[in-house]
Amino acid sequence: MNFGIKDKWGLVCAGSKGLGRACAESLAEEGVNVVIVARGTEALAETAAHIGNNTEVEVRTVAADITTPEGRKEALSACPALDILVTNAGGPPAGNFRDFEIADWEKALHANMLTPIELIKSVLDGMIERKFGRIVNITSAAVKAPIPILGLSNGARAGLTGFIAGLSRQTPMHNVTINNILPGAFATETMNGRMAAMAEQSKQTIEEVIDSRLNAIPAGRFGDPREFGQLCAYICSAQASYITGHNFLIDGGVYNGTL
Ligand code: NAP
Repeated sequence: MNFGIKDKWGLVCAGSKGLGRACAESLAEEGVNVVIVARGTEALAETAAHIGNNTEVEVRTVAADITTPEGRKEALSACPALDILVTNAGGPPAGNFRDFEIADWEKALHANMLTPIELIKSVLDGMIERKFGRIVNITSAAVKAPIPILGLSNGARAGLTGFIAGLSRQTPMHNVTINNILPGAFATETMNGRMAAMAEQSKQTIEEVIDSRLNAIPAGRFGDPREFGQLCAYICSAQASYITGHNFLIDGGVYNGTL
């Protein structure tokens, strides 16, 4: 299928590794020129080179912290008129909520709720004017089924999800859609960190934690970030203009519910 987005421009936040990188790669494979943002320059350069060597698109990189106003300004000024926005940032740390201070909550809210909202505020009206826009927020399966040790993530991402539920119904008449993708367990650096935290908390070895996690995944494996990127590219396609306000869970069957 031709996704009809060749020559569009996309901004992929937190795009040098893991799920963000996979989204940037899949969009580039569909002919989308991409601006990728991350703080570390090494992975950013490696990802840009990989995309540049494997596609014909233009790739720009911005080394910045997307959770700061300066970082967002830099990222947005590296893009021409934007057609596609993928919001993403590192997730908040795991822990017992009794140990979280207000500053921890503020950090989580900035990274996983307010940053996407600020980015959307900056690009939405231009998309509406140009009659094309696709916004995808990378959130978490924890939005649908909260994970006890990820209280900061459960809370901050639920706030974003509520906001998007309202906004996403105000834009599809302009061919601008807003959706969230909720990853379950994908094989990325962040996931490895989570496994280590769980092992420490539960006094198990990492191997034991991995085994019990895999046992709970009907697919019997962790997700491949490429599968995530390809779903993102479809949601950003011309064909997906009738899909807005959805929370796409991609978790290998872990969520055990009829709807
Ligand atoms: P990852 O493989 O560790 O990659 C994280 C990416 O985000 C890197 O490119 C990192 O680059 C960038 N980044 C982090 N903080 C940033 C910031 N403040 N500004 C700009 N870039 C930033 O992580 P992932 O697994 O893809 O996770 C992506 C998101 O999905 C996270 O919010 C995570 O909590 C969530 N999630 C992941 C899973 C999973 O199984 N993987 C499950 C549920 C939810 P720099 O560090 O160089 O900036």
